[in-house]
Amino acid sequence: MTTITLVQGDITRESVDAVVNAANSSLLGGGGVDGAIHRRGGPAILDECRTLRASHYGKGLPTGQAVATTAGDLDARWVIHTVGPVWSASEDRSQLLASCYRESLRVADELGARTVAFPAVSTGIYGWPIDDGARIAVETVRAADTAVEEVRFVLFDERAYEAFAKRVG
Ligand code: ADP
Repeated sequence: MTTITLVQGDITRESVDAVVNAANSSLLGGGGVDGAIHRRGGPAILDECRTLRASHYGKGLPTGQAVATTAGDLDARWVIHTVGPVWSASEDRSQLLASCYRESLRVADELGARTVAFPAVSTGIYGWPIDDGARIAVETVRAADTAVEEVRFVLFDERAYEAFAKRVG
């Protein structure tokens, strides 16, 4: 049984087995939570991302998939990078967003991670409405078949925290 916990704050300050990054498909860094993770985690993360680009992910990491690297200087063993979909009003990309959570947990299971911190994937620069992003995140984690014991959603602002709190109940 996976326990869901909620924290308002900066995910780079969390102490967990794995921190999930809302990356972009280049894996080479970006803004938002991605930038914060690379800043605080240091260059070892980017080094491994570059190696991934040079080997398995020559074209980048596809949307909805997840891959792990070292967590560098973060208080975690791994960073699991996942690429959320950009919000679209004309196309339903919910399955891709759900896939980010499912695939990240699958990678966490492969690693043996028992505590995993997630940001609200796609709800920043990628524009996903926070209430719907929270619904998909919580529903997908609840439905997942995983050995992860704690999923900690780390929400940057109060609005995001409230959206998740409403779903977790
Ligand atoms: P995306 O491109 O997937 O939308 P963002 O990083 O822009 O990714 O935003 C995803 C979510 O992460 C947003 O809700 C944003 O407010 C939040 N966020 C940004 N920085 C941090 C951080 N340091 N810790 C936790 N959440 C963060």
